[in-house]
Amino acid sequence: MWKVQPTEFLKRTLNPIRILWETNQPKGNPEIPNIYLQLGDPTIYGNFLPHSNCAKAISYAVLHDKFSYLESSGLKEAREAVAEYCKHMGNVTADDVFLTTGCSMAIETACRALANPGENILTPEISWNYTTWMNGVGIEARGYSLLPEKEWEIDLDHLESLIDDKTRAIVVNSPGNPCGNVHSKKHILEIIALAERNKLVIISDEIYEFFTMPNVEYHSFAELSENVPVLVCSGLTKRFLIPGARCDWLVVNDRGNKLENLRTGFRNAAGRNFFPNSSLQYALPSILRDTPQSFFDENNQKIYKNAQIVFNKLKSVKGLKSSIPKGSFYMLIGIDLNKFPKIETSLQFMQMLADEQSVFVLPSECFNYQGFIRIVLTATEEMLAEASDRIKKFCECYYEY
Ligand SMILES: *Cc1c(COP(=O)(O)O)cnc(C)c1O
Repeated sequence: MWKVQPTEFLKRTLNPIRILWETNQPKGNPEIPNIYLQLGDPTIYGNFLPHSNCAKAISYAVLHDKFSYLESSGLKEAREAVAEYCKHMGNVTADDVFLTTGCSMAIETACRALANPGENILTPEISWNYTTWMNGVGIEARGYSLLPEKEWEIDLDHLESLIDDKTRAIVVNSPGNPCGNVHSKKHILEIIALAERNKLVIISDEIYEFFTMPNVEYHSFAELSENVPVLVCSGLTKRFLIPGARCDWLVVNDRGNKLENLRTGFRNAAGRNFFPNSSLQYALPSILRDTPQSFFDENNQKIYKNAQIVFNKLKSVKGLKSSIPKGSFYMLIGIDLNKFPKIETSLQFMQMLADEQSVFVLPSECFNYQGFIRIVLTATEEMLAEASDRIKKFCECYYEY
């Protein structure tokens, strides 16, 4: 027998969300229709669709045979359009922009540009799967605490206590998944000051930029940083509602030329051809310039309305702690497990809820955290109302004084 052994890269590259979900997948109750609220893909319910301009721009590129190889950091006109789109960050030029296949690629590139194997990067302890991009290449993702009682602000003391001589960067995510946090200007300035004191670069995952509830202000980390370099990762995936386009970007907001020695490296790394397919790049300037503000405003309004529907139904349910998130499109609902003696974990809560009420949610175990479930707010109003009623019924059944 001839068996090839997996490399360290393969052995260490794990996506905790996928694994936990796939190995614990409940079947649902055959007597009631399933309602799926676990996937962070806004397009699957049919009520959040890309602006019609997107299809026009992409089909124009395809019909005009725009398939050639392009510059490895991305088509110049497309990078110029991204730079213009990012003007809220300060002075961004086409040279600061690298187009990537998915925002994930931007995040991975930022991490690998800053940390060697054996070094570490600080990441939110309850967060999206940043570890997936780091563990595989031997970078340690070191989790810092967020404070649920302070609307998921970063626990700055805990964050600073984790820093050692092998720490290279801090990953931040606001608006955040799964917490729905949006950091205030004051808090962002505190985080930037901490990074400056410790000479750490900030990697800011801003894929949910401008996805905020009414009266919540949005600030990019790059906009507020004077002295700390900020690598912003963002793209079309969430705000433009085309996750499968895989057309996203890394924006290098250097402050005080601290990343000068990395510039050539970034260009060489882009030479690995991580750019999105060329027809998307040709379409990008039109997608960015011609999508009207009303499209984004309407989507934000719809998410807010959905959040209110769920919140109004769940706010008085005993044993649950829900609140309207400040941004992104998730609601993280706390479960007081002490009040549900027959349920031990949020993972078990998810499984029982699915098997009895056919409502599928993501347990916080997927984010390495205990005691919460996450639902997506991009489903239809009817689905969310029905799901909330069933969650209420389920809780009433298991709640004990
Ligand atoms: C969805 C999401 C992304 C986007 O990743 P893609 O590779 O573009 O699909 C990045 N960060 C967070 C926190 C997300 O939820």
